[in-house]
Amino acid sequence: MPRLLIPVESAMGETRVAASPDTVKKFLSLGSKVAIERGAGLAAGFVDGDFNTIGAELVAPGDSQAWSEADVVLCVQSPSASALARMRSGALVVGLLAPYANSSLAASLKTAKLSAMALELLPRISRAQSADALSSQANIAGYKAVLLAAAALDRYFPMLMTAAGTVQPARVVVLGAGVAGLQAVATAKRLGAVVYVSDVRSAVKEQVESLGARFIEPPEIDQRPDESGGYAKQASEAFLTAQREQLSNQLAEADVVICTAQVPGRKAPRLISDLMLDRMRPGAVVVDLAVEQGGNCANTRPGETVDRNGVKLIGASDLPCSVPNHASALYSRNLVALLEPVLKDGQLTLNIEDELIAGCLISHNGVIRHDDVFNTGGSN
Ligand code: NAD
Repeated sequence: MPRLLIPVESAMGETRVAASPDTVKKFLSLGSKVAIERGAGLAAGFVDGDFNTIGAELVAPGDSQAWSEADVVLCVQSPSASALARMRSGALVVGLLAPYANSSLAASLKTAKLSAMALELLPRISRAQSADALSSQANIAGYKAVLLAAAALDRYFPMLMTAAGTVQPARVVVLGAGVAGLQAVATAKRLGAVVYVSDVRSAVKEQVESLGARFIEPPEIDQRPDESGGYAKQASEAFLTAQREQLSNQLAEADVVICTAQVPGRKAPRLISDLMLDRMRPGAVVVDLAVEQGGNCANTRPGETVDRNGVKLIGASDLPCSVPNHASALYSRNLVALLEPVLKDGQLTLNIEDELIAGCLISHNGVIRHDDVFNTGGSN
């Protein structure tokens, strides 16, 4: 019978947890045993008693025996190197392990001879959609980014006709229309804004227009970036220069800009320069979701709001953590979808030929399988 452990998340500011009472129930029904560290779900609104009543065992945070007996550790962010060192060889750790950014992870996995699945690397095929944690969390980030912008803006979002006169709707520009960007578009539209969207992938135009937003066609120059597997590839500097020129006029008229443009494993494209910020009106708000990857916007800083000549620059680094109950509920359902075939019939069977597992299995019993990921270092 596989033993699952859900730890208290150790990363600073992390409020999510890798299980909800519903998903623990599901794992128990698949024939696994579940141990959860006391207090693991508290910040996400799940109390110990909720887990205990349905049959999970409560253990003390950092309990050595629980870590050494676990066959699978389910986490949101990677456990610390010392926690990984407590796991038995051959055990499996599953989470958003940030292999691009976590330089010591490969060594920890090798030394402790662990298997590890990094959810960031799950192939983006239709079969994987229910397990896609990047999407479930990006959706939340896109939604919350618009709420932050609306709260910080010095204007209404919707058009209003009042006794004191008519108020024009806010003008919102969304940069990047992947999962977070499309949710930002939908949320801004629900609040009544007029929304413009820039993206480099051709499939996006139709999606954006179906949400009632206007698509800004990418600049027509030869070096338009390719795409592969649904992701944009890195744009050339010539393309980005043309794109910044094109966006400069849009931004000068914008009330809000939501930045979500990303290229996997690379620095985020710089789409807003200092000169462009100079042209924005005081009171406007920029929310940069790409801030941890270098930022789409100049001068944004992770977790900070910078006032630049009256323009508020919000470096929104961890928005899913600000909606921890739903973020955890959806994330833990992603884990069930991924692990149901691995844990069925009370057996742990890791089929490394399976496309989903092969895609995200970064280490198998301590043998590193994605040297490419560990070696990029997330640089350009
Ligand atoms: P992402 O976070 O990597 O990028 C966000 C957006 O930024 C993308 O739309 C990208 O095209 C855009 N971008 C990159 N460079 C840009 C630039 N210079 N200017 C403007 N925009 C730029 O992407 P994501 O949100 O994780 O996903 C992208 C796409 O992957 C989705 O829209 C979807 O088509 C696909 N997807 C598929 C599945 C699945 O089938 N399982 C799941 C999720 C997403």
